[in-house]
Amino acid sequence: MSYDPSRSTKSLTSSLQDNNGDTDQNTNENRKHSVLDEKALREDDTLFIRDQRVLKISRNYQSILESIGEDPLRQGLLKTPNRAAEALVFFTKGYEQSIRDVVSDAIFDEDCENMVVVKEIDMYSLCEHHMVPFFGKVSVGYLPNKRVLGLSKIARIVEVFSRRLQVQERLTRQIAEAIAEAIKPRGVAVIVECLHMCMIMRGAQKVNSRTTTSAMLGVFREDPKSREEFLSLARITPF
Ligand SMILES: [Zn+2]
Repeated sequence: MSYDPSRSTKSLTSSLQDNNGDTDQNTNENRKHSVLDEKALREDDTLFIRDQRVLKISRNYQSILESIGEDPLRQGLLKTPNRAAEALVFFTKGYEQSIRDVVSDAIFDEDCENMVVVKEIDMYSLCEHHMVPFFGKVSVGYLPNKRVLGLSKIARIVEVFSRRLQVQERLTRQIAEAIAEAIKPRGVAVIVECLHMCMIMRGAQKVNSRTTTSAMLGVFREDPKSREEFLSLARITPF
């Protein structure tokens, strides 16, 4: 299936208004609680603000190095606080973006009724309990209702939510809800399968146990046949 951008005549905002038939006031009210606008309290990434943030985190990393019994002044560690700070800012860059920023120019009117499945999107996140990585694959399916989402945007939605401190359950739900809100499809299904380093590296946990979570909305929740079709199309291969 290919999408002709010239057919995208509506902005996300007007699409949502059309769909709900809301007054402006109600729409604004809805927006306050919209998963599309969820953004952490991290200011826009101007160069100055970003440098200040990296500097602050870097100082903290220096203190962490001392606290774990290291010498932050030994040669191999001299640049580590700064590098670690840069890495952490990158790992959490989803705090600077909202889903509305990402999808607003990629919603297309299309009469397609068939299931759209994007499977095995790579995903890297940090667990919010230990701030260590969990990573894996995400498969997403939806049944369009006269609107489709640019295919690459599904991976971008996964990216925005995963580049924050997360728990896998919430991440799964947020991806599904964002797609549901953006294009109001007949149903959305999301399945996420991850390895959690906090389980693997701490104590005597099972090393290869993968955690699977799913979110089923609309038709996928109500109709076992649609759910089965998605699950057979979206099956994640071992990684
Ligand atoms: Zn953890």
